[in-house]
Amino acid sequence: MRFVSFLCLLFCISIDLVAQPELDYYFPSETRLNDKIPTPESILGFQLGERHVSHDQLVKYMYTLAEKSDRIQIEKYGWTYEYRPLLLLTISSAENILNIVELREKHAKLSDPEVSDKVDISDIPAVTWLGYSVHGNESSGANASLLVAYYLAACESNEINEILEDNIILIDPSINPDGLNRFSQWVNQYKSNVDISDPNNIEHNEPWPRGRTNHYWFDLNRDWLPLQHVESKSRIKQFHKWKPNIVTDHHEMGSNSTFFFQPGIPSRNNPNTPKNTYDLTAKIAEYHAKALDDIGSLYYARESFDDFYYGKGSTYPDVNGGIGILFEQASSRGHIRQTDNGLLEFPFTIRNQFTVSLSTIKSANELREDLLIHQKKFYTDALSIAKDDPVKAFVFDGGNDKSKTYQFIKLIQSHLIDVFEISSEIHTVGHNYKKGSSYIVPVQQKQYRLIKAIFEQSTDFKDSLFYDVSAWTLPLAFDMQYGEILEKSYKKVTLGEKLQPITLPEGKVSGKSEYAYLMRWNDYYAPKALYQLFKNNINVKVSLKPFTAIEGETFEQGTLLIPVQGQKQSSENIFKLINKIAKSSNEDFYPVSSGYSLSGIDLGSPNMATLEKPKAMILVGDGISSYEAGEIWHLLDYRFEIPLSLVPVNRIDYINLSRYNTLIMVSGNYSSLSESTMQKITRWVQDGGTIIGIKGGSSWLSKQDLAQLTIKKTKLDSAIVVSYGDMANHLGAQEIGGAIFNSKLDLTHPLCFGYPDDRLSMFKNGKLFFEKSTNPYNNPVVFENNSLQSGYISKENYQTIHNTSGVIISAIGRGKSICFSDDPNFRAFWYGSNRLFFNAIFFGKIINLNSVR
Ligand SMILES: [Zn+2]
Repeated sequence: MRFVSFLCLLFCISIDLVAQPELDYYFPSETRLNDKIPTPESILGFQLGERHVSHDQLVKYMYTLAEKSDRIQIEKYGWTYEYRPLLLLTISSAENILNIVELREKHAKLSDPEVSDKVDISDIPAVTWLGYSVHGNESSGANASLLVAYYLAACESNEINEILEDNIILIDPSINPDGLNRFSQWVNQYKSNVDISDPNNIEHNEPWPRGRTNHYWFDLNRDWLPLQHVESKSRIKQFHKWKPNIVTDHHEMGSNSTFFFQPGIPSRNNPNTPKNTYDLTAKIAEYHAKALDDIGSLYYARESFDDFYYGKGSTYPDVNGGIGILFEQASSRGHIRQTDNGLLEFPFTIRNQFTVSLSTIKSANELREDLLIHQKKFYTDALSIAKDDPVKAFVFDGGNDKSKTYQFIKLIQSHLIDVFEISSEIHTVGHNYKKGSSYIVPVQQKQYRLIKAIFEQSTDFKDSLFYDVSAWTLPLAFDMQYGEILEKSYKKVTLGEKLQPITLPEGKVSGKSEYAYLMRWNDYYAPKALYQLFKNNINVKVSLKPFTAIEGETFEQGTLLIPVQGQKQSSENIFKLINKIAKSSNEDFYPVSSGYSLSGIDLGSPNMATLEKPKAMILVGDGISSYEAGEIWHLLDYRFEIPLSLVPVNRIDYINLSRYNTLIMVSGNYSSLSESTMQKITRWVQDGGTIIGIKGGSSWLSKQDLAQLTIKKTKLDSAIVVSYGDMANHLGAQEIGGAIFNSKLDLTHPLCFGYPDDRLSMFKNGKLFFEKSTNPYNNPVVFENNSLQSGYISKENYQTIHNTSGVIISAIGRGKSICFSDDPNFRAFWYGSNRLFFNAIFFGKIINLNSVR
């Protein structure tokens, strides 16, 4: 040790030799353990906390444990994008495990108000779901999961035996395996033989894109409501199968903090959650407090985080009859780290997570009846509140976009919400909802609260600060025409068939042509079909004006024209190919035999512009928003099968830009780009390239004279007298954490091709506002007065947004830049504004900028 201290003095680095933990460091004293159950160390070869468990090691241990213990069942409930298994362990007494299906079904009756009255709760187990490390680089949770599973399998105390008799414990040991593995690989590969606690050490500074997110760099702890990722889609089925009474969500936070457990900030609770949820959260909190007191750990509650946004793992259960509990442990980042509170060791963080896992289980056991009654009442109350609600149903119309309608319905159904056909047209003030494309969601359902949370628009809030977004109204995100049906009108409505789990209707080709085919641009998957055409070297044109080529069929601007002549393939092959694409992309193609239209432009018109296959790249890497970049990668690659090169920002100096015709820049710090690189990019744009900026990417383009736009400044609200103590709240209220605004589209502009009407909801979660262009032809998307649809915005910011432009296009030589003030691809569920982004990619080139200066 003396030698170590000498080194510290010499090199100003800190090296600490830490005693490796023994198993009894983690466990309550005098724990009797069954020695037939394998310890984590016996399988992993190291003690938990000595190094970070990889996901493969975790899987191996959990399967071994399930094999050796009659208290455990294990199930693979899904795969990640990188093909790692998602696991769920079911733990109870050996006897319960033998009758587990029966117990589960009995428990599920509490969530069914039709039968729950007759259920005797005295012999129904409480179900506790322990969920670990949804953020893969907050790994103390996933590492603790092995200890919790082992402890519950091996512990022979009377207390644990009694708990297992009356409880079912589910363990989701690693909610984000791809992220966990990315992180564990990093910290283990830089672990030194002697522990290094220096925060500057490479071990403590994982590189971009970091392990927080999944394969496509999404935060899975925002996806419980939008359900856009394979992990969440698989998990939600398990969640609804089990209807857990308590769900834990184990995270890490800044290294200089302590430990947090819910309740969070009371004024930021979601009004759709009943008060009793928070009362029970507070009761459960007493168990955590006692358990952490016993091991001497500092902690706090009630001052941070909230239960507002239902897309989080600790909030979604609150709107489903359970209690979600968020835990946040100060992060050691690697194996040991210097912090304001002294040395923070990885084993210590694991022990806290283990300790609150046990206190949760204990609380479930002792509050079992309260939790079961809460669950039962949650659903019976939902029906009676729905009865008093003046709104009786929500109706929506998907119009001609059958793919988007399908995705929307599938999403609502995943939350166990019933959707019905309408048996005849429904007339409202704003819209006539037609049979065939319109559907109705009556509120008189057990998921009443969630229906409200999904469909309602709120602009009135108790608090002006939100840990996450303040609005997520799903029909707006999907650009659905929708409305409320009040009692009087509802009486006249006859519900049609209840929709079964639906399938996406296949596209069709209505016949072979020797002349040309047409494909409309109004369906969500149209860009997928277009790219497939390009991939097969088919020349495609797009109409800039509407026309009628077939009796009774109007084709709007944006319709694709595939001439049969002049292609490299025979008419027979083109027919086969189009049939294949119609099926795989769910798009309809129309054969035409003459270029002479019944009305509007003809097929050989100068208003049929030739399109170019996009060859797109996006700059990624250090300093760049992995969220915004990941959204684009996921959208193009996974959802639309369009290739996108992810080019590290530090490589751009060395690459030949002529390989690409589209360059995407999302928010980020591009200051590392040298002057010569900037000249190279500028030359490439001047030669005809299209550069697309998103949010901060747009600001940067503007600073580099690669966009002619004026950023509108916001004023800080100074009207209220504030004190130092109010600073955080006051400044926080000036941010736009995420709200929804109505924009007006210019439907004749190529950027807006394919939209059914000139209203589009846009999501805004930043303070970038573009002054409207003085050129009237260059404002395809405008935020007019009274644009707020849902969410919180300060008065000053709201004034600023009036009359700003959402997209500005600039001419640069023969090329152009297309700048978005907001993120049209936010969290993968903004199906409505996605189209603007695709139009920028596919139609950017044909936007006529002759008069745009
Ligand atoms: Zn987290």
